[in-house]
Amino acid sequence: MESLLDVKQLTNYINGEWEEAKGDFAQVKNPATGETIVEVPLSTADAVDQAAAAAEIAQKEWALVPAPQRAEVLYRVGTIMKERKEKLSKLLTMENGKVLEEARGEVQEGIDMAFYMAGEGRRLFGQTTPAELKNKFAMSVRAPIGVVGIITPWNFPIAIATWKSFPAIVSGNAVIWKPATETPIMAYELAKIYEEAGLPKGVLNVVFGSGATVGDAMVHHDTIRVISFTGSNETGRNIAADCGRQLKKVSLEMGGKNAVIVMDDADLNLAVEGILWSAFGTSGQRCTACSRVIVHESVKETLEERLLVEMEKLTIGDGLDAVNKVGPIINDAGIEKIKKYIEIGKDEGAKLLAGGNQMTDGDFAKGHYFAPTLFTDVTPEMRIGQEEIFGPVVSLIPVKSFEEAIEVNNGVEYGLSSSIFTRDVNRVFQAQRDLDTGIVYVNAGTTGAEIHLPFGGTKGTGNGHRDSGVQALDVFTEWKAVYVDYSGKLQRAQIDVE
Ligand code: NAD
Repeated sequence: MESLLDVKQLTNYINGEWEEAKGDFAQVKNPATGETIVEVPLSTADAVDQAAAAAEIAQKEWALVPAPQRAEVLYRVGTIMKERKEKLSKLLTMENGKVLEEARGEVQEGIDMAFYMAGEGRRLFGQTTPAELKNKFAMSVRAPIGVVGIITPWNFPIAIATWKSFPAIVSGNAVIWKPATETPIMAYELAKIYEEAGLPKGVLNVVFGSGATVGDAMVHHDTIRVISFTGSNETGRNIAADCGRQLKKVSLEMGGKNAVIVMDDADLNLAVEGILWSAFGTSGQRCTACSRVIVHESVKETLEERLLVEMEKLTIGDGLDAVNKVGPIINDAGIEKIKKYIEIGKDEGAKLLAGGNQMTDGDFAKGHYFAPTLFTDVTPEMRIGQEEIFGPVVSLIPVKSFEEAIEVNNGVEYGLSSSIFTRDVNRVFQAQRDLDTGIVYVNAGTTGAEIHLPFGGTKGTGNGHRDSGVQALDVFTEWKAVYVDYSGKLQRAQIDVE
């Protein structure tokens, strides 16, 4: 472990300096083993003030660096991440619990994002357009906003930070990043990589600490003009309300209640694979995790049988051991929330087919493990069919038709990801039109976003912005319309048109 992580206590990274350790710290525990891996500072609002002051100065210089040169830093960041992929992946598994194969996938997502956003350094396209008057030129350009704040959750500790910080930085902003206290190691490692890649001091600052103190201070800080947040619906709503009062731009990516639809003509073996991967990968702790299976009644029993057979084969344990396909739950609070929903499901009359229990035998007792769980005969309005559980729990909801399947899919407050298994091309196109989520998969599970497409959701999942893809640039830039009149006389728009 020592060789992977070079410190026992993390410190904030402000203005290109690793601050001296002071104040209170929290222990960061490996969710698979319960071992303390490192200590993380619980900073106060003063650290946000310091970071904001440094970022404000640094941003003015950074905005003047030509974007292709800004991009060179991101190319170097991507290259270093690639060299360190294995080390980063192991540390990620240790702090978050997801199995190593998935951790490698997450780090790869960050690498892809680095090279993709570095490419934007030579694009950052605006538009040129005809002017309505003679001898006049019109165009729109993207301008940086200034100092931006990013607040990230524990479930994708490096990928989400890259979705947000890379577009922000290539666009000429300076960043203050508050990672989740459960998973600060990826923030430490990524900040070191930025430093080695030659990012000027103050352009990226990391302030560790709680949401209530550091996050709240960022949301209310006058210097910070954008908040890009990923996390729970409740926190996001409060942040949006606070930002609204300050006329601060805010981008929210929040929860999901994602469903796989299995139609009567589906390839059932493929559907089972898709459901298992998207429901139990990362132990169901993905914002895009499959939490509902909406199944045509004619294939319900067969699907149940096959799911149960395959669920039996899932190997659960420490994600550093390649044998294991399902890792632990992040912490005790996560376990308690899942347990609560198991009881709710039983009380509501859903039928528990598998799992439903915390795993505490032998080595499992050291970590936080929950058995992959399958409920059936769930009705759409039950709470387990409506609310985000964030664990390895799937609810089967039988339906009689394609139309009903779409209606059930759309009948939740969230709108992140959905999927349909069918071989009928007409249904495929109807589904991609009618499913009201930000992401739609056909003949694949609900997870597996690629970084060059927009990531985000509708309704209670977000507020209309997108992470990743070229669309992420809209969060971190202002559109500026530029008119150049070369007629040598005053030409009045809408009035002097001949
Ligand atoms: P959370 O809302 O508790 O925390 C997210 C971040 O917000 C953390 O860094 C936390 O410290 C901070 N925070 C908490 N209170 C705050 C406050 N008052 N002011 C400012 N910041 C505050 O969420 P979580 O439990 O860490 O993450 C799980 C949630 O994230 C799930 O609901 C999941 O669906 C969602 N998620 C969404 C996406 C997406 O892109 N849609 C991706 C991953 C996770």
